Amino acid sequence: MGRIVRTISKDASVVCSAIDGKDIVSRIEQIHKTSAVVTAGLGRLAMAASLLGFGLKGDNDSVTVRVAGDGPAGALICVSDSMGNVKAYVQNPVVEIPLNDKGKLDVRGAVGTNGTLSVVKDLGLKEPYCGQVPLVSGEIAEDITNYLAVSEQVPSVCALGVLVNPDLTVKCAGGFLIQLLPFAQDSAIDQIEKNINGMESVTQLISSGMTTEDIALKALEGLDPNVLDDFEVSYRCDCSRKRVENALISLGRKDLEDLAKDGGTDVECHFCEKRYHFTPEEILRLIHN
Ligand code: ZN
Repeated sequence: MGRIVRTISKDASVVCSAIDGKDIVSRIEQIHKTSAVVTAGLGRLAMAASLLGFGLKGDNDSVTVRVAGDGPAGALICVSDSMGNVKAYVQNPVVEIPLNDKGKLDVRGAVGTNGTLSVVKDLGLKEPYCGQVPLVSGEIAEDITNYLAVSEQVPSVCALGVLVNPDLTVKCAGGFLIQLLPFAQDSAIDQIEKNINGMESVTQLISSGMTTEDIALKALEGLDPNVLDDFEVSYRCDCSRKRVENALISLGRKDLEDLAKDGGTDVECHFCEKRYHFTPEEILRLIHN
């Protein structure tokens, strides 16, 4: 199980959510059979979605984060519920490119630097909230920070990391998101900057034995932080036969009749690869409903 721990400064002006996403990113690798650099990129985005989704108010609220860059991975899409459970999809799961000049997986090279990051929050209102910004980095964390600053006017710090073993399994994955509320004082901002500059990368912190809670507290060091909440999170797909039926119905009568003539159809869920089979009789029944 993954875990999200949220901490808050004593004056309640700074909040940090930290995630241990190893299990989530492992599921991504198992389901989508991603190459190492795509595991890292999609894993980072999934953890970001989870951190953004965690704490949405309504039980049925969700957030969809989409990165569409000009790199070989194509579009990456992650959806989180309000408990931080997340599902992920990538257009091209296998991208083989050299390591970057720091000897790390080149997420920017796989994602691309020209394109957009868009966020859709379904908060149970008539219209979902949508925000879109151009990519500024392609490494995901900086793009999330830029999105929050530009689109939501929330100053933040985001760090995301995934380490992949030579056999393509996930060694460790984690991240954190610090968000400053409008009444945060300059001294708190200075303290956060000092903390961040003094911190190793998230994967180094995890590898050195720090827990999610340790990281969430360390990020707010000097601000008398307290743990606000602590939840288990996982890779979770909420697809169902009913949802697939609705998608089929939206194709319209003509396409459904063609599918029935072809002897039925198999619909595969993009997020979990579960297959839903429909016989010609079942398809015709959808038309007449
Ligand atoms: Zn599914």
